[in-house]
Amino acid sequence: EEVRLRLNVEVIVGPDSPPAPAPIESFTDMGLHSSIMKDITFHGYTMPTSIQAQAMPVALSGRDLLGCAETGSGKTAAFAIPMIHPPVRRGDGPLALVLAPTRELAQQIEKEVKAFGKSLESLGTAIVVGGTNISDQKSELRMGVDIVVATPGRFIDHLQQKNTSLSRISFVVLDEADRMLDMGFEPQIREVMQNLPEKHQTLLFSATMPVEIEILAQEYLRDPVQVKVGKVSS
Ligand code: ADP
Ligand code: MG
Repeated sequence: EEVRLRLNVEVIVGPDSPPAPAPIESFTDMGLHSSIMKDITFHGYTMPTSIQAQAMPVALSGRDLLGCAETGSGKTAAFAIPMIHPPVRRGDGPLALVLAPTRELAQQIEKEVKAFGKSLESLGTAIVVGGTNISDQKSELRMGVDIVVATPGRFIDHLQQKNTSLSRISFVVLDEADRMLDMGFEPQIREVMQNLPEKHQTLLFSATMPVEIEILAQEYLRDPVQVKVGKVSS
């Protein structure tokens, strides 16, 4: 609790949920794969930010997460590093999916995922966003990728065209969920969440906590750990 106070982190779990994993203030103590550690250091990160210190142990433990922290607090690494740990294996259809509100954000996320997984052999990532050539994306998806970073509308297009599938997805991130709802992506998010395999982990990040996000979280997160950093407005 002392550490959480210092980090300005608040953690909430449901009354029947197991306790939340403790925050970890050093990347070295998180039990990460040595090649990922190398890439973190190379990326210039020496210490986890507050959201990373609390959200990464939660994500690495396999629990669902509802993460609230303001922009610039380091949420990308908080999900990107657990997503590639343990190293994912190439197969038929992606194993992890990140949904983000805009093309620019998706591109930025994919870049970070690649940077943290640089030393991992054959980590295949694809970026699936609107406003770019759909047939190029189609061939990339059909070649088989491990991680897809996408905007919801374009991802659903590819699902409907059977260019990709949810059948092997075990890790889902909804990044900037409040913005995705503002942009009208709720039906697409629901379409994805309702068609995931039974066994999957979900991380939902949002800068604000309006009631629509709480409803979404209640519906789709299982026994989540809610992590709030600083003041979070609704
Ligand atoms: P958010 O998604 O919360 O808005 P980002 O993940 O985009 O935040 O991170 C904001 C900035 O902080 C980026 O430039 C990122 O590289 C940097 N950053 C994140 N985590 C760390 C860290 N542990 N050490 C140093 N810089 C970091
Ligand atoms: Mg972000």
